Amino acid sequence: EVGASTNFIKQIVAADIEKGVHKEVVTRFPPEPNGFLHIGHAKSICLNFGLPQAFGGRCHLRFDDTNPTKEEQRYIDAIEEDVRWLGFDWGEHLYHASDYFEQLFEWAVLLIKRGYAYVDDSTNEEMRAMRGDITKPGQDSPYRNRSVEENLDLFMRMKAGEFDEGKCVLRAKIDMASGNMNMRDPAIYRILKQSHPRTGDKWCVYPMYDFAHGQSDSVEKITHSICTLEFELHRPLYDWLQEKLDIFRVRQIEFARLNMTYMMTSKRKLLALVQEGRVSGWDDPRMSTLSGVRRRGYPPAAIRNFCEKIGVAKRDNLIHIEQLENCVREEMHVTCERRNAVLVPLKLVITNFPEGLVEEVDAPNHPEDPDTGTRKLSFARELYIERDDFMEQPSARFFRLAPGREVRLKCAYWIKATDVIKDGNTGEIVAVHCTYDPQTKGGEAPPDGRKVKGTLHWVSAHDAKKAEFRLYDRLFAKPDPEEDVPEGGDWRDNLNPESLKVVHGLTEPSLATAKPGDAFQFERVGFFAADPDTATAGMPVFNRTVTLLADKGM
Ligand code: ATP
Ligand code: MG
Ligand code: MG
Repeated sequence: EVGASTNFIKQIVAADIEKGVHKEVVTRFPPEPNGFLHIGHAKSICLNFGLPQAFGGRCHLRFDDTNPTKEEQRYIDAIEEDVRWLGFDWGEHLYHASDYFEQLFEWAVLLIKRGYAYVDDSTNEEMRAMRGDITKPGQDSPYRNRSVEENLDLFMRMKAGEFDEGKCVLRAKIDMASGNMNMRDPAIYRILKQSHPRTGDKWCVYPMYDFAHGQSDSVEKITHSICTLEFELHRPLYDWLQEKLDIFRVRQIEFARLNMTYMMTSKRKLLALVQEGRVSGWDDPRMSTLSGVRRRGYPPAAIRNFCEKIGVAKRDNLIHIEQLENCVREEMHVTCERRNAVLVPLKLVITNFPEGLVEEVDAPNHPEDPDTGTRKLSFARELYIERDDFMEQPSARFFRLAPGREVRLKCAYWIKATDVIKDGNTGEIVAVHCTYDPQTKGGEAPPDGRKVKGTLHWVSAHDAKKAEFRLYDRLFAKPDPEEDVPEGGDWRDNLNPESLKVVHGLTEPSLATAKPGDAFQFERVGFFAADPDTATAGMPVFNRTVTLLADKGM
């Protein structure tokens, strides 16, 4: 059942199923709706939704909406869209931690009644000082030994709104001498006079993350609660709360979060990029958000394959962005049809091709997948090729078009450059005159055994359509933008000033009707996907998703 690719979490789950600890696996993906999902979240989504796919069971989507100060409905909507886009479905299992506010409050009351929680009136600074540090035991708060009755009374008054924010908190009564700082009487409820997107003004006390999370897992009878490594030291608290409340026990398992070169995976910094206008929005195609990579053209299957390939580690590591880009290339190589697009056009005039004549040539849509068929391209006297594909004085390793040299126009004819036409004032090359060999139709070699070294893509002047090309590069110029910061600067100084270059060029006619999201391999140029702006720009707008070859920038 586990399959060829396994990881330590799959092994734990497999063993639990085999031993009959659980009949099926129940996981959850618990985003906080305070921003958009990024590539790191994709790893967690693939892992959590992948387990029930392998072993039977289900994965819940649970919004961890316990902090009303930062959460918004539009984030909830975007998260749902992104999880679906990635190919996963929570079915009816959509939950909100805020659905459990009543239950969580009752459990807090139960903890007080059992002598495991107390209301502390100390200030934040006092509590911090008493908690101490790892080198020595902390100090008990003067409020630690309040009676159950007094604690119950105070907690009810907190709930009733009698106290200002920060006046007091409810703390779990655990062990002020613990070697684990999370066990030194952590706060579990605080006063926040904030209305909540779902519960309105019903509450002015809200559970802290550590109190809400494990108890929500328990309510939903999650079998395996998978979270990132920074929660390893919270596990004793997670277990302690479920034990003292005597509720359904969930096993927490930690794994290493995904860290990638050139990609930011901190929601706070992604939000800063948006708010400061350094990108066009959460879905800017340079962003590491799922909506960003979607707009750029990354296929969801490529992201799923990537998450499978990188596996699940127990220690922090750094994954190179090239691994993700290669997964995108591999997927698009298979799924995208070929088309011709000329980004920076140079006019060719085929002087021995009759004026007004248009000849059709066949071009395969996908050379490795004959089922995709062919399309007709029209060849005529005036064509465009890529400006970079011609050099008046070719360097030694330049095998493309040059004066007196013959090259193949893909699927069409062999042509030879005869004259270079320049602007009389600027000296700029405005056209190249060529001749074609009628014996080379379809790009076939002529009977006399001549050879060419270069094959170029092209479009016909009479039917080419205008298009905008957005050539994206990495958003950051350094592999580790958060750490490798210049003296006196911050991560913003590592933004790549050349991360977007816009050019206007030409495509074969069929692309005029491209719809947002349609993706192609432009022959010899790269993989591109039509941007949503296509609908309003008056011409198709294509985002470069990834170059054809690794490490080939613009
Ligand atoms: P941030 O620290 O940027 O605010 P977060 O982890 O707090 O991110 P959540 O919305 O709480 O964001 O994350 C939802 C789930 O996704 C959590 O279970 C978390 O462990 C997981 N997750 C977040 N970032 C990563 C990452 N880089 N790699 C793997 N999993 C991640
Ligand atoms: Mg967070
Ligand atoms: Mg979180």
